[in-house]
Amino acid sequence: MAVVEFIDSAEGGRRRIRLANPATLAPLGEIEIQTSDEVRAAVEGARKAQAEWGGLSFSERGNSMRRALRVLLARQDEFAERIVRETGKPVVEVLTSEIMPACDALAFYARRSAKILADRRVRTHLAKNKKLRIIYRPVGVVGIITPWNFPFMLSLNPTVQALMAGNAVVLKPSEATPVAGVLLEELFVSAGLPEGLFTVVQGDGSTGQALVESEVDKISFTGSVRTGRIVGELCGRRLLPCTLELGGKDPMIVCADANLERAANGAVWGAFANAGQVCTSTERVYVVEDVADEFTELVVKKTGELRQGAIGEFDVGSVIWPPQLEIIERHVNEAVERGAVLRTGGRRNPDLDGIFYEPTVLTDVTHDMQVMREETFGPVLPIMRVRDEAEAISLANDSTYGLNASIWTRNKHKGVELADALQSGSVVVNDCMVSYGVAESPFGGMKDSGIGRANGEAGLRSYCHTRSILVDRFGGKSEPMWYPYSPRMQKLVGRTMRFIWGTPLGRLFS
Ligand code: ADP
Repeated sequence: MAVVEFIDSAEGGRRRIRLANPATLAPLGEIEIQTSDEVRAAVEGARKAQAEWGGLSFSERGNSMRRALRVLLARQDEFAERIVRETGKPVVEVLTSEIMPACDALAFYARRSAKILADRRVRTHLAKNKKLRIIYRPVGVVGIITPWNFPFMLSLNPTVQALMAGNAVVLKPSEATPVAGVLLEELFVSAGLPEGLFTVVQGDGSTGQALVESEVDKISFTGSVRTGRIVGELCGRRLLPCTLELGGKDPMIVCADANLERAANGAVWGAFANAGQVCTSTERVYVVEDVADEFTELVVKKTGELRQGAIGEFDVGSVIWPPQLEIIERHVNEAVERGAVLRTGGRRNPDLDGIFYEPTVLTDVTHDMQVMREETFGPVLPIMRVRDEAEAISLANDSTYGLNASIWTRNKHKGVELADALQSGSVVVNDCMVSYGVAESPFGGMKDSGIGRANGEAGLRSYCHTRSILVDRFGGKSEPMWYPYSPRMQKLVGRTMRFIWGTPLGRLFS
């Protein structure tokens, strides 16, 4: 049985998607793919609702988020259960990586948006005759398009930021995980959000595209590099601001002085949590040769202890999106054909009916294999020995991606220096994957991993127009640079420049 099945419409009816639980293959029902007219109507409704919402105080908006938080806390088990059914994740993982960060996002932005987005007075360094005020105002209606790997959290987090900044939101969740969108709708309806302010449109790429082509004022997209490019191109053509949170191929660098037990535990969790379907999963390890054997043995042993399952207590869940399984198999098979050694795993799990790939560890990999160059997005951990840290950094940077990375060393000072040498939007020293979960930490990619920053001050402000208002302080009938121009003025300008940027006293003003 297909887990995601597209059903063509009969006589002008709407196209539908039939879904099943990827872990048990139990049917989950159908959703209708919404049309571009419906998307446009949602955006119109959102604009009407935003007019009033944008005028509320931060504390009033924050109260809505706090109400949503109370609902989420009260219904956490039910929400988790519904997310498990749609994704095949272990319930603990849904609580820790979907519900808990969602609670944090609701509380964090409800409390801090007022400060982050407060009007700011800034002293001007040169134009002393002007007062500068910087203000952050909502962009209007934000279109948010999200993927299936953390369908609840990755939809809620940008939504809360956009709402707290005073915007309305139209959300298009992944066609593989529409229930997450339904849950968000239920959450915000229960929290008493005004009608139209937050709307979910369900569907596939065509619905997403309709949202990008609608009258939204900003797009926040999380998903693959391939689709991100399409969305970015469309936004570029329309000069529509967009944040693109795309893929990663996160390197892990294990130094000779690392706490190997911790590093091995981190590698196993970083690679196999959420069945490796995280944009910040540990997707390649560079371990210096002095400790490579010991580290690898620990990783292989710990990987062998993981329990994969569909029901009850287990550590590694299913692949959520069936086409991903083919990519995982292609990467592993190609690596093995080209000489990589399979230390454990390397196949679909034959004991389970759903879409499962066994946690897999590869050694003897080389940098021309797909498993070291392309995003695998599955439970696969290739380990490569390197001479030293310099070679590790150089190989880590030899990638089209630059989202997140980790460095493992007992010398934290060295860890920070190595982190700085990595071409990566975020780096973690002696931990992994946590960057997105720390609300203050700006999150986003370098190179093909994306454009813009989510979370914290940078993320929240990205849902605003940052505007400046300059007020003249002294009045008077004219300004030195206004008309009339004259040879005297020309001389004065020259003298002023020489004074300000050419003398020690003048530099005090510059
Ligand atoms: P994944 O979910 O595998 O990371 P995608 O990047 O294809 O992969 O999907 C992310 C989101 O983008 C989903 O909600 C999907 O429906 C949507 N999407 C797919 N194609 C387009 C498109 N052309 N324009 C806008 N959104 C799209």
